Amino acid sequence: MDSLSQIPGIGPKILEKLNRLNINHPKDLLYHFPSRYIDFSHSVKINSVLENENITITGKVIDFKNIFTRNGKNIQKAIVSDDTGKIDLIWFNQPYLSKNIKAGDNLSFAGTVSLYLNKKTIIAPEYGQYNTGKIISVYPETSGLTSKWFRKIIQIQINNLLKDIKETLPSNLIKKFKLLDLKISLLQIHCPTNPQFLEQARTRLATEEILSLQIRSYLLKKEWQKNIPKTKLKVTKIIDKKIKDLIKSLPYKLTDSQDKVLAEIFTDLTNQKQVMNRLLQGDVGSGKTIIALLACYLTHLNNSLSVLIAPTEILANQHYQNFQEILKNKDIPIFLLTGSKKIDLKKIPKNGILISTHAVIYQKLNLKNKISLLIVDEQHKFGVKQRSFLNSSLKLPHCLTMTATPIPRTISLTLLGNLDISIIDTLPQNRLQIKTFLVPDHKKTSCYKWIETEIKKTGCQAFIVCPFIDISESMASVKSAIQEFEHLSKEVFPNLKLGLIHGKIKSVDREKIIKQFQDKQLDILITTPIIEVGVDIPNSSIIIIQSADRFGLAALHQLRGRVGRGHLQSYCYLFTESNNQKAIDRLNFLEKNHNGLKIAEFDLKSRGPGEAFSTIQHGFPSLKIASFSDTKLISLSQEILKEIIDNYPDYNFSQITSENITAESIISN
Ligand code: ADP
Ligand code: MG
Repeated sequence: MDSLSQIPGIGPKILEKLNRLNINHPKDLLYHFPSRYIDFSHSVKINSVLENENITITGKVIDFKNIFTRNGKNIQKAIVSDDTGKIDLIWFNQPYLSKNIKAGDNLSFAGTVSLYLNKKTIIAPEYGQYNTGKIISVYPETSGLTSKWFRKIIQIQINNLLKDIKETLPSNLIKKFKLLDLKISLLQIHCPTNPQFLEQARTRLATEEILSLQIRSYLLKKEWQKNIPKTKLKVTKIIDKKIKDLIKSLPYKLTDSQDKVLAEIFTDLTNQKQVMNRLLQGDVGSGKTIIALLACYLTHLNNSLSVLIAPTEILANQHYQNFQEILKNKDIPIFLLTGSKKIDLKKIPKNGILISTHAVIYQKLNLKNKISLLIVDEQHKFGVKQRSFLNSSLKLPHCLTMTATPIPRTISLTLLGNLDISIIDTLPQNRLQIKTFLVPDHKKTSCYKWIETEIKKTGCQAFIVCPFIDISESMASVKSAIQEFEHLSKEVFPNLKLGLIHGKIKSVDREKIIKQFQDKQLDILITTPIIEVGVDIPNSSIIIIQSADRFGLAALHQLRGRVGRGHLQSYCYLFTESNNQKAIDRLNFLEKNHNGLKIAEFDLKSRGPGEAFSTIQHGFPSLKIASFSDTKLISLSQEILKEIIDNYPDYNFSQITSENITAESIISN
């Protein structure tokens, strides 16, 4: 079958509705999976029906009536009998039923038996051969196509549809992993014969779904591996000494985790055969910046150019100052390029270090062929498109992306298999845990009072984060920050010095305000969540996050990481006006948990990956049947992939992933 319109019952109107559900081809209909099932396979005689049981009965309709009630509603009532007894059936507001159910008909009905006006009754039963006497599939009802419609058309067409399906996995492999054959799985997922069979079908189809994503990563990785580094970086004796000296000059000792990831990155950078493509993940405050700096320093010592891209100007500035401070007296050409600080890129020497916001991306970069190392900080803040500015460069630089968003292993195994991953899993020294409290609306005032006392007593500083309305910091969120600033400075903290920053303030002015805050001329900084990424102000030890329920846990954890960077005990207050129990539970979890990975895994389970991780990866794929929290399934499909790679060298991956892996998709991943 080549087209949906060949199927009887699918005319132009229905076709349009199907297209809206992304069902464009007969095969898509097979991959439109039920969302749940009801087991009506238990057929019983009428005299033995039990309350609350799902059953099917078959008998003669001895009466059918449309009854109109006084309040304008209507009820359909039927009486059905078999050789053991009679039972009432009731529907609400389905007058058209009289066309399909008539006295004298012999029909099957399925439903749950309940007591209605003290009589055993089946309320709103299903009827007819497609809906009774078996496990029935319930399809998501959207775009005006009912579950019943799908159930019927798929049952009628299933054998026709399956004719075009070819097994995608080698038969020996199917045997080895005890998988169900693809055709049988598709048949069982729509028309299950028993729960065990259905479960096997689900496993097979879910495995395949995960496998297709893993294959995609694998192919991306293979494609990436074809690249040979254009500059060969080395750690000579002299360079080694210089790097060790720099590390010794730091005001702290690197943690074991930092040592470990540094070794991994240096091994990649000095690999003469392959270009690095590594993700560095480390919780907020775990010390990723110094790792980036050391990688840039190694590149500089090899007379090559490195670029560090930050998501915001504030952060680019901070990196710039930080790099200058740590690398002072070394005569290293360090440059800053942001929206408000333009430079002539031609002036950057071959061995320079360029720190930039993504503004650099929009400039016509002649530089791109000269870059040996590209580091992208807080990668999740960038859109895929922004990173693809390197597309046209034939030779890729070594790439390091850094993120504070912890990525559950199941996700990295599925979606990020093309990347090598380094994890900093401990925080420096014995940092004090940030005390976190959920503050309901009625306790706001006393919380503000306490903060004022604390600021006066200890000289610490505070952030107050106003809720944002959308990621791009719309005018609405700016307005709410301005209003909050007025309110707080006039009515709540008239005796303290408050500052305000948001995205619509010119960046020169924004920097001035941040500088004032750094220099302790301000006590409280009111801000939209633009401070989320990176700002490092050790003297601020209090953060209030307003309308915390609007943020994802990962984002809240990041915001919280703005404090707890110095020696003071730090506090995080989560304000919420919400009474929603689920929202409260999520915030309670944050009160008690400080491990970013644990928080991310909780978010994954409680909100699903789309919401929790859309920030890590733009266009996070939504799964039809598998789940990103299914560890067993994900390791199974990984084993299968390994088996294919090891033992089936001629296997054609396009059977499972239809996607074309191009040079363009490499860099954007
Ligand atoms: P993030 O991983 O969030 O980017 P940063 O690199 O900004 O973290 O580091 C946070 C703070 O910790 C900085 O002030 C930095 O100087 C400091 N730091 C980094 N490594 C160590 C260490 N090993 N011991 C103590 N402090 C460190
Ligand atoms: Mg950082």
